[in-house]
Amino acid sequence: MSKQTSRIYLSPPHMSGNEQAYIDEAFRSNWIAPIGPNITAFEQQMSEYVGARGAAAVSSGTAAIHLALQLLGVGDGDTVLCPSFTFVATANPIRYLGAEPIFVDSEPGTWNLSPIALERALRLETSAERIPKAVIVVHLYGGMANMGEIMEICERYRVPVLEDAAESLGSTYRGRQSGTFGAFGVYSFNGNKIITTSGGGMLVSDNTEALERAKFLATQARDAAGHYQHSVMGYNYRMSNVLAGIGRAQLEVLEQRVEARRAIYRRYEDTLGKMKSVAFMPELEGTRSNRWLTAMTLQCAGAETVIGNLLDELAKADIEARPLWKPLHLQPLFKGAAFYGHNEQGVSVCEELFRTGICLPSGSSMGTEEQERVIRVIAEVLGDLRTEKTEAAS
Ligand SMILES: *Cc1c(COP(=O)(O)O)cnc(C)c1O
Repeated sequence: MSKQTSRIYLSPPHMSGNEQAYIDEAFRSNWIAPIGPNITAFEQQMSEYVGARGAAAVSSGTAAIHLALQLLGVGDGDTVLCPSFTFVATANPIRYLGAEPIFVDSEPGTWNLSPIALERALRLETSAERIPKAVIVVHLYGGMANMGEIMEICERYRVPVLEDAAESLGSTYRGRQSGTFGAFGVYSFNGNKIITTSGGGMLVSDNTEALERAKFLATQARDAAGHYQHSVMGYNYRMSNVLAGIGRAQLEVLEQRVEARRAIYRRYEDTLGKMKSVAFMPELEGTRSNRWLTAMTLQCAGAETVIGNLLDELAKADIEARPLWKPLHLQPLFKGAAFYGHNEQGVSVCEELFRTGICLPSGSSMGTEEQERVIRVIAEVLGDLRTEKTEAAS
């Protein structure tokens, strides 16, 4: 009989053990509501950790993006610049507000928003008198975007920046936390993120007045009156006090989680990185990625087929792996949306990444033996590739 093995997930929740104490406290005090001491404490600890003046805990990262865009004045008929290479939740809130995304390509050096494409998009859109209301920057898989250049360009065109840091909590650029460069930063605590509340999100900013407005909008926009009075449309977007308790305990171990994910990345790099066709998501100089997911590409002929084989073989071995995000400008949902490429001609950078890349299991609770199981399957598939290459060459 073969040894029994368990399924290896891409990024499963990893509890610290302290969560239950905060949940129990919520039960003891009967704060089973979207208000209470865990929420206040979680907001304060998050804003301290990242170095922002304030924070607002909400029900999801998507809700936080929606609120931030509304606070930036995005509305009917507006446009927002947004990376194409990201999860759909980055762009959907643009549409919630009746605005349209304009997609921008990635750059090879960070896989994130290309400053070259961004500059061209801002220049051409502005000269056509379609001044975008905001620019969304994403730090994909925890890797920092080129914030120095991006902020300089956005300041030059006076367009505010919203950082979708849903995947990058704990990542830094020259020592500064992701999510603290733009007017607003957003984190996600979905079950698969580096820390989780099962579901939840956080909006951070130095503009505490705007954050008060966000909390107002997130609690049905109730005017200051004894009776129920409403002048604007709000949402039911606040985080539960029970879940904020999970968040408090998770935040206490965030640094350990970053270290664990970085160690997992290094083990992949040390083994698979030796193979000629393998490349990993680069880490921009002066930045520290939380390596939420280890993302790998194959730089060889037929890479697309090999990635397909890899996904099949990993699935057969009960290992969860995923392709990289499919660019949003290729999604049926956004058919016809504008797209600015990094290269003025030829294949876009994000399309190439999508074709040739894969995300590997990266959970902070994954043991060395489990990771070796993943590496063995990949090495076997890539080993075949190497043989084929040698045969073709001879
Ligand atoms: C997870 C994620 C979101 C959405 O966060 P939720 O908490 O799941 O709503 C947004 N953007 C990116 C890049 C994400 O990975």
